[in-house]
Amino acid sequence: MGSLPSEVFSPLDTNIYSKESHAMVDFIADYYRHIEQYPVRSQVKPGYLSKILPDTPPIFSEPIDTILEDVKKDIIPGLTHWQSPNFYAYFQANASTAGFLGEMLCSGFNVVGFSWISSPAATELESIVMDWMAKMMKLPSMFLFSGGQGGGGVLHGSTCEAVVCTLAAARDKALSKIGHDSITKLVVYASDQTHFTVQKASKIIGIPTSNFRALPTCSSSYYALTADTVRKAMESDMAQGLVPLYLCATVGTTAVGAVDPLFELGQLAQEFDVWLHVDSAYAGSSAICPEFRNYFDGVELADSISMNPHKWFLTNMDCCCLWIKNPYLLVDSLSTNPEILRNKASDAKVVVDYKDWQVTLSRRFRAIKLWLVIRRYGVANLMEHIRSDVALAEHFERMVNMDDRFEVVVPRKFSLVCFRLKPKFEACEEANNYSKLNRELLEDINNSGRAFMTHAVVSSTFVIRFAIGTTLTKKTHVEETWKLIQSKATDLLNRKYTK
Ligand code: PLP
Repeated sequence: MGSLPSEVFSPLDTNIYSKESHAMVDFIADYYRHIEQYPVRSQVKPGYLSKILPDTPPIFSEPIDTILEDVKKDIIPGLTHWQSPNFYAYFQANASTAGFLGEMLCSGFNVVGFSWISSPAATELESIVMDWMAKMMKLPSMFLFSGGQGGGGVLHGSTCEAVVCTLAAARDKALSKIGHDSITKLVVYASDQTHFTVQKASKIIGIPTSNFRALPTCSSSYYALTADTVRKAMESDMAQGLVPLYLCATVGTTAVGAVDPLFELGQLAQEFDVWLHVDSAYAGSSAICPEFRNYFDGVELADSISMNPHKWFLTNMDCCCLWIKNPYLLVDSLSTNPEILRNKASDAKVVVDYKDWQVTLSRRFRAIKLWLVIRRYGVANLMEHIRSDVALAEHFERMVNMDDRFEVVVPRKFSLVCFRLKPKFEACEEANNYSKLNRELLEDINNSGRAFMTHAVVSSTFVIRFAIGTTLTKKTHVEETWKLIQSKATDLLNRKYTK
């Protein structure tokens, strides 16, 4: 309940701010020191927290020490430890000291740079840092502010937002030509591997759900979308009076890391006058290394590209880079000009007002975080960060290949390995039911608390995804986790098949 106030209520007292912030930093450092002691995937049961927390808020203030004790006691057990070195699930959301310090600055200044005048440094730093990122990824100059061709970039919180905004721009461009009543004719194309965010975004911007095409991929193209498949779908839709609108290509799909062929899809998009968006939420960071840049060949034919530094670029949540060749299309679609926000710089159209490049008005000063990460680590270390994760994934893939009970189902892409217990294992009575067996294996691994992985299903095959990218993961963690997987497999097979 807290106790009667003994101090004056002063929520931004600088002495308290400094003292309690230091306590918080020490608390977090301590969390990282002990992170390997916690079960990686939380082992709590649904509803655990409401059983232990009071159901009404405190009337009077409570000391920070008491609150942090409760965080330790009540909250940490319910965390899945995304920063654990043994976290291999989903795609990582990697953290770093610089990312954390950048978040502190962002949150510490707490400015809201929706228009240039509302915080000029926030806007200008964002434009500069977006050009820096684009240069690191060797994006074509038409995506850069400094490219002089009208392009530029913006920081969003997530790929979902970036896709909604680019879809809205594409929709309004198309409807201005064919009339607003024609929205039911517009069709969005993606593959059956594309992140569900594109389908959700299509729905949000008013595309009929029946006009979303999740085009099939197969193992022979390593789950990449082929231009031939897209061409057939577009021609068939046009024959029925529909209008192809938007194609999403992915570099590094969520399930298996597949890479869609940007050049071929780009040529097709131009032929059919379709907006091409490249989603490289996870793998975009790899473009800073020359040896991975070839996956992005053809990006010059895209209208927009996005990637998430909060996945693999040591930038704490949240941070998504979106570049667009013709930002005026985004602004046409998303701008508002209420009297209350009018100012000389905006009226003179000599500045970027990022409120017109996104869904919301208010926005965080994410640029300072990304800027801090790039400056603090430098391009050389950032490249090394990507390369060392890829090398660990190669090492893991080799270990899987050396145990003939297992197989790598889809060849490693970037730092993602998809594997399973393989069907031809002789002792198995459930030869046709390997999905069930692998599902059980995954449950056993995750229930151990010693590592956390997730799964995907491709061509009706259940695969265990081993996604490397958490900042603290080292070779020893990968090797120990592989031993864990092997021993859980041995236990499972003994349990099932030994009489
Ligand atoms: N696209 C891909 C390829 C992803 O892997 C993910 C998430 O893992 C997303 C989009 C969604 O990203 P966000 O959570 O930033 O919206």
